Amino acid sequence: MSENVKNDNAKAPERLDFVRRIVEEDLQTGKWGGRVATRFPPEPNGYLHIGHAKSICLNFGIANEYNGICNLRYDDTNPAKEEEEYVRSIEADVKWLGFEWSNKLWASDYFDAMYDFAVELIKKGKAYVDDQTADQIRSSRGTATAGGQASPNRDRPVEENLELFMRMRTGEFPDGSKVLRAKIDMASPNFNLRDPVMYRILHQSHHNTGDKWCIYPMYDWAHGFEDSTEQITHSICTLEFENHRPLYDWFIDAVNEGRPPEKRIWHPQQIEFARLNLTYTMLSKRKLLALVQERIVRGWDDPRMPTISGFRRKGYTPEAIRAFCKHIGVNKFNSMHDIQLLENFLRDDLNKRATRVMGVLRPLKVVITNYPEGQVDQLEAINNPEDASAGTRTVPFSREIYIDREDFMETPAPKYFRLYPGNEVRLRYAYFVRCTGVVKDAAGEITEVHCTYDPATKGGNSPPDGRKVKGTIHWVSAAHAVDAEVRLYDYLFTKPDPEDVPEGFDWKVNLNPKSETVLPGAKVEPSVSGATVGTHYQFERQGYFTVDKDTTPGRLVFNRSVGLKDSWAKEQKK
Ligand code: ATP
Ligand code: MG
Repeated sequence: MSENVKNDNAKAPERLDFVRRIVEEDLQTGKWGGRVATRFPPEPNGYLHIGHAKSICLNFGIANEYNGICNLRYDDTNPAKEEEEYVRSIEADVKWLGFEWSNKLWASDYFDAMYDFAVELIKKGKAYVDDQTADQIRSSRGTATAGGQASPNRDRPVEENLELFMRMRTGEFPDGSKVLRAKIDMASPNFNLRDPVMYRILHQSHHNTGDKWCIYPMYDWAHGFEDSTEQITHSICTLEFENHRPLYDWFIDAVNEGRPPEKRIWHPQQIEFARLNLTYTMLSKRKLLALVQERIVRGWDDPRMPTISGFRRKGYTPEAIRAFCKHIGVNKFNSMHDIQLLENFLRDDLNKRATRVMGVLRPLKVVITNYPEGQVDQLEAINNPEDASAGTRTVPFSREIYIDREDFMETPAPKYFRLYPGNEVRLRYAYFVRCTGVVKDAAGEITEVHCTYDPATKGGNSPPDGRKVKGTIHWVSAAHAVDAEVRLYDYLFTKPDPEDVPEGFDWKVNLNPKSETVLPGAKVEPSVSGATVGTHYQFERQGYFTVDKDTTPGRLVFNRSVGLKDSWAKEQKK
């Protein structure tokens, strides 16, 4: 292994993914002079999603492991005005995931240089101005079996091309009236090489360059030069760009052709990997934007959104996301990962770090009729059985408590071991209680459950007679509980593949109408009062919950980050 390798997991070479194998080999052969330089190039036209997290972990991860650099480069070659919000969110998300960029750069800063390179290509007879419309260009591209048709403008003299390109730049021509095309090969089996467009006319302002430009470079032309200018060594992108690679290389070779070695521009290596696809998850920025604009969700950071900020708000930790990305690795085959795998990484992480508390989502009042009025017991509860250093806390117990409605059944179903008339259960950390009756309102709704407790079971322990109970339920003291709104989340889409849309329908047909359930009247034990946004808890028996940003001083809002594995739900499905 090269000395440059600062790999904290010191993996055996055969365990490395194919991208890291290439990087290590290049370090060994000295291909890039021992340098490793990657970049993460988002277009600032939306929030980053979990697919971007895969790319971030790969690009920044490689830079960290091999003492290299990773640039954050905004791919802002499309004119757009307002994207400050996106830029801010992108930077916050990269940092939150635990990474630092070496340089923050804007592709639009390279417009002048790119223009000069284009002029150079025209002078070399490798680019020409075409007057055909976009439709004409498209229809003359040819088919998979037949080559394309050369544009009537393909053999324009260099001088004329230079003049027309200059006039395109100065704004003489309307949008769509001319383009600059690379002169490559209209018969190439690779469509991308059939004289691709390099520049188009767009009389639109750009957030960075204002009205300086009315021609804007196309992705394939621009991207390689951005990489080249930054002396990127490994330009990592997703598989769709595999057959763009010959074009990526062609553009740089075309500039270098005829230049003496010391004048040649840097030629990075493009490497493609499979993008992330997750079940029940839509990863198209355009569609995510539609969800936000049409207010189908609460915003880009809605806990149901697959954005990094959505996952964060839902209660995901950067550690869980990074562990997931590491686990799935990178390869060359597109596949669909199960969202439950990601959820398992979150459970594993929160299991280690989340404080356990008792919270009642749908409260049902229980009166312990033989418990003295006005008495309060302070019972000891364990903060985290997975982490002894987390210690213990006290939880108040009094005559009136709340339990969850689903922990009581007037007529118990088979194998139901929770509270029902005549049955005895353990109140977690507190006492054994036996149900003695119920109180109903005029409509027949149960408003109160009556129980008696056994003082000899304090702490929830078996009494001297060795009596055992089958059910343990959580509770909160009515007088001490904190009010909270709890939001439960289900997947945003009803289908594992949200893009699987029946003929004649819009993709929104797959939206899950029950993706959010708001429980406004939850009651949580007092230890959570004052909890700050983002704090993680495990509500015992209910799942992991995180304090939402909608929390106000008088009212906590919790999002369910992920459920626990519910043995009762499984039992019912049998
Ligand atoms: P758009 O939906 O606008 O085409 P995009 O998904 O390509 O956007 P970019 O902002 O251009 O988003 O992406 C930045 C980087 O993230 C690119 O290098 C891209 O390859 C990578 N990326 C985007 N989506 C995924 C994904 N699902 N899995 C892995 N990497 C991804
Ligand atoms: Mg893109």
